[in-house]
Amino acid sequence: MISCATPAGAAQRMTSTATRANVPLAVLFQITNRCNLDCVHCYQVRDQERELSLDEIARILAELSQAGTLYLSLTGGEPFVRPDLRAIVEQARRLRFVVSIKTNAVLLGEEEMAWLSDLGVVQVDVSVYGPTAAVHDRVTKHPGSFVATLAAIGGLRAAGVNVQMAIPLMRTNIEAFEDLLGLARRLGCRPTFDPQISVKEDCNRGLARLRSHDDAMARFFSHPEVIESYRAEVEHRHEAARTGALLRSHPCGSCHNFCHIDHLGRVRACNALPIIGGSLRERSFTEIWRDSEELATVRRVRVGDLPICRECELITYCTRCQGDAYLEAGDLLAPSPDACRRAALLRAVLDKGGMPDAATLAGLAQAPLPGQRARTHLPVLL
Ligand code: SF4
Ligand code: SF4
Repeated sequence: MISCATPAGAAQRMTSTATRANVPLAVLFQITNRCNLDCVHCYQVRDQERELSLDEIARILAELSQAGTLYLSLTGGEPFVRPDLRAIVEQARRLRFVVSIKTNAVLLGEEEMAWLSDLGVVQVDVSVYGPTAAVHDRVTKHPGSFVATLAAIGGLRAAGVNVQMAIPLMRTNIEAFEDLLGLARRLGCRPTFDPQISVKEDCNRGLARLRSHDDAMARFFSHPEVIESYRAEVEHRHEAARTGALLRSHPCGSCHNFCHIDHLGRVRACNALPIIGGSLRERSFTEIWRDSEELATVRRVRVGDLPICRECELITYCTRCQGDAYLEAGDLLAPSPDACRRAALLRAVLDKGGMPDAATLAGLAQAPLPGQRARTHLPVLL
């Protein structure tokens, strides 16, 4: 089964409980913003600031443990550029976090694979951008990265480590997504495809040029396994809309059961939503999570507060990200233009039960999207 980021089952129930109790169940901890690659689609902005030391990270992990965090995902930049990564993971496992690591895997050798396995890292998410070196290395801008990444995936699997292949879909690789699916299966990985390409965290919109064309996106949605993975979620949202639960719900888990900590120790609403609650170099995690007015502002938003989205006929098809809305439209309550486009395409695919015809796609391309129709006098929340 292809995963398209739809939580399910027991994990979803635990997430709901954490949301009600406002427990930061999951934290994405960016332990560095340095990276060994230079991917074309990367939304992060590199800086030369002093990243958290091992001592600072150990203190923050203890605070997260106190606050009730269970799932700890370590990310970068590239986490393996830190020579003390093993010590960080050891400390996290001593505190009984369920640890996963997001990596391009290029720097992994046998030693790293062995300790990842020994320490019980539950999952390594490896970014793969194409089914061949030509496609993948064009994204990373580093010849040889595809070979190194695939070798590491093979080594991790041989060491018994669970590997998830994280595949952002963009103009350069979406046509090859079935080959990527086959590659993931051959290597024994669970593939997750993400059709969302975010703009830079400094609001530079240049990355929007990498987004897939409509027909390629529709072809992706039309794949039998992809349709099924979205259909279940859309049906769930139809039901929630019918009962009114959708408008009462929160747009996402950011600041309810999840947050991001950046490499400088700042607590952010999400990696995709750079609203900063405070610095862990100045205050404790619990103080920031509990008292920050910035995080509280995100926390207060319900879907029914989104002035355009709440009236939108595509809302049950939509995977709007608050971060995209904030960065791209400049407003936490606004539609996300790219989500509007994906929602329109997904509805067309689900209505048809497969690939829409060319006339339908042409009609969609010409019709104003919901977010464009009503871009007037939106309140700016922050
Ligand atoms: S801000 Fe976007 S990426 Fe972050 S949790 Fe919400 S929807 Fe997901
Ligand atoms: S399609 Fe656009 S306007 Fe409609 S709910 Fe999604 S982001 Fe909002």
